[in-house]
Amino acid sequence: MTGIIFDIRKSTIHDGPGTRTTVFFKGCPLQCAWCHSPQVMDPQPQLVWSDDKCVRCGLCIDACPNGGHELVADGSRVHHQEQCTLCGACVDVCHADALVMEGREVTVEQVMAELKRHLPSSEDSGGVTLSGGEPTYQHKFALALLKQSRSEGLHTALDTSGQTPWRTLKKMLPHTDLVLFDINQMGSADPKQHTGMPNGKILTNLTRIGESGVPIVIRIPIVPGINDSREAIENAAACLADVKNITRILLLPYHELGEAKYGRLNRDAYKLNDVEPPEPERMREIAEWMRPCGLDVHVG
Ligand code: SF4
Ligand code: SF4
Repeated sequence: MTGIIFDIRKSTIHDGPGTRTTVFFKGCPLQCAWCHSPQVMDPQPQLVWSDDKCVRCGLCIDACPNGGHELVADGSRVHHQEQCTLCGACVDVCHADALVMEGREVTVEQVMAELKRHLPSSEDSGGVTLSGGEPTYQHKFALALLKQSRSEGLHTALDTSGQTPWRTLKKMLPHTDLVLFDINQMGSADPKQHTGMPNGKILTNLTRIGESGVPIVIRIPIVPGINDSREAIENAAACLADVKNITRILLLPYHELGEAKYGRLNRDAYKLNDVEPPEPERMREIAEWMRPCGLDVHVG
């Protein structure tokens, strides 16, 4: 059983209770315009090149068995993606760190071994969080990791957008102690416009998770001009008030950290260049609009 992950990060403090280790899966069915980790959208590993770090030494050209790199006369560098088998040989020789392989294939056993190295042995060890990307996109691998983590006594959290078949979530919930539910657009007229998908399945799944009894922490990115109107926030609050087992709502201010990554990944251009992160005062105001729903609302 193998899966493609982007990273395993230790000592994370925002992905569930305690100090945790978070496994970031590759692959996501949504295409949120504000995604700060576009490198996890693609389910496969990706070779990423940084122009500003490259010193044009040409070592990658010699290292590639498939003619995947080329330096042309004007000094620009071309990556022939269609010839690349993602073997990683060029990454190994690039001393300037201009080439990075985003993503790697791992077995359940390899992830568990890393988790055990990372997790503190003390009782406040938070546990493991599966995040992404969308962990349910590789549902068999995610389920195997949840089961194995549970069997080793670890607290398990699943960070999901809910954009996945219910039958998938249903299998995972018995092995999940906490769901971190990321609502990427709620309360606006056209969720599909900025995430690539409608909200129907997401909201139905949220209701069903609530009925399952697994506690839920809701995380909502607040993106100025997209979902921060009073009407959108109050609509979202009204929907969430009807969902069972929500323990808290975290409102996360939009930030621009992902912007620079889009060009390096050959993705469509970043679309939110003109959007400024919301001020703390604005976030507090939005939280106040949501509080009448009776839930525990915080700014993250
Ligand atoms: S090995 Fe690295 S620094 Fe040298 S040309 Fe290739 S990408 Fe640039
Ligand atoms: S990853 Fe392997 S095949 Fe792809 S460009 Fe680098 S050396 Fe060539």
